[in-house]
Amino acid sequence: MTDYAFDTLQIHAGAAPDPATGARQVPIYQTTAYVFRDADHAAKLFNLQEVGYIYSRLTNPTVSALASRVAALEGGAGAVCCSSGHAAQIMALFPLMGPGCNVVASTRLYGGTIQQFSNTIRKFGWSAKFVDFDDLKALEAAVDGNTRAIFCESISNPGGYITDLPAVSAVADKAGLPLIVDNTLATPYLCRPIEQGATLVVHSATKYLTGNGTVTGGVIVDSGTFDWSASGKFPSLAAPEPAYHGLNFHVALGAMAFTFHSIAVGLRDLGMTMNPQGAHYTLLGIETLSLRMQRHVENAQKVAAWLEQDPRVEFVTYAGLPSSPWYGRVAKVTPKGAGAIFTFAVRGGYDACVKLVDNLKLFSHVANLGDTRSLVIHSASTTHRQLTEAQQVAAGAAPNVVRLSIGIEDAADLIADLDQALAAATA
Ligand SMILES: *Cc1c(COP(=O)(O)O)cnc(C)c1O
Repeated sequence: MTDYAFDTLQIHAGAAPDPATGARQVPIYQTTAYVFRDADHAAKLFNLQEVGYIYSRLTNPTVSALASRVAALEGGAGAVCCSSGHAAQIMALFPLMGPGCNVVASTRLYGGTIQQFSNTIRKFGWSAKFVDFDDLKALEAAVDGNTRAIFCESISNPGGYITDLPAVSAVADKAGLPLIVDNTLATPYLCRPIEQGATLVVHSATKYLTGNGTVTGGVIVDSGTFDWSASGKFPSLAAPEPAYHGLNFHVALGAMAFTFHSIAVGLRDLGMTMNPQGAHYTLLGIETLSLRMQRHVENAQKVAAWLEQDPRVEFVTYAGLPSSPWYGRVAKVTPKGAGAIFTFAVRGGYDACVKLVDNLKLFSHVANLGDTRSLVIHSASTTHRQLTEAQQVAAGAAPNVVRLSIGIEDAADLIADLDQALAAATA
């Protein structure tokens, strides 16, 4: 299956005709428990000696189809679906971290992730150190004996920033640490982080993977290439795991160690499971992922270029424009385009931004992105509101900028809407 091209995999990977009925589309297995053939079968399933279904907190046929499809699209060995993108991030860190351990994370992250990493993970005894990932020396210096992962986004939300993944993964390799890349804004169509050195890829399936604002979901993909045994730093994966009758996952399951641990221990005990209905919608969304992403990028390119030449606009931060400091990274990191999320600064600052948002008609003012519909948000007064102004600026969400998520409508209609709203905002 993995020999097929992306456009074929997005439709077929993980989805054979239903073995029970022949149904061609993946059915929604709205089911909780699965009958064991006999006691021996049950024992083999619980011992991870045979793969099958026990209980839907762990695995479910519809959810497994989605996991296989995303793993194929990202070029990974295995994947686990979760209840949200934020759940995927906790689940990605869970097998790697322990009390006293830290993750070194980029300053340029989704506002909710900065919040999750700054405060909430401290309740588990974990912590995060935030560094500018363009300063590779600072990144290297931030790694200490308790660091267990390096975390960044491929394209970062909201500032139109692209991480130099090959350079960052070289630092991670040198430190013997896994690199976790949030690939939500790029999707595997625009960027394949594993090919650029990532160990784990996390997604908010809520965004482009589903693509139409119907689902909250997340996915973690494991490359299957990290040597969990080499450093002695990852006892959950490469030492007898007390949470699973002393199984050494790396020894027993090799490239599938992370995936099986995430199901057998992570989902079992944290319960951040994706629901089958959500998985079904995401499977439908992914069938058109490449087509949508092509149009998203094409429209973003047109709208960003139009905004940049408008005197009412101070600047546009879209890596697809030659004016962006990160334009040079597009060909290397996101070869099929710089995505469709960017910010622009309105002359007139905070007040003009708020007026602009209130006057847009086609763009919806929502705290979401990656929808077929074009969306707008003033990050400083909403998603990044809980951050200090310094954190807002560092995250690319200064008070004078508005974030756009460009949809797949007609680009001329989007430009006309921005034109009339800018007129109202700067009158
Ligand atoms: C939305 C988002 C998340 C969180 O995902 P949820 O599905 O909302 O939990 C994480 N990272 C990025 C880049 C996002 O855009």
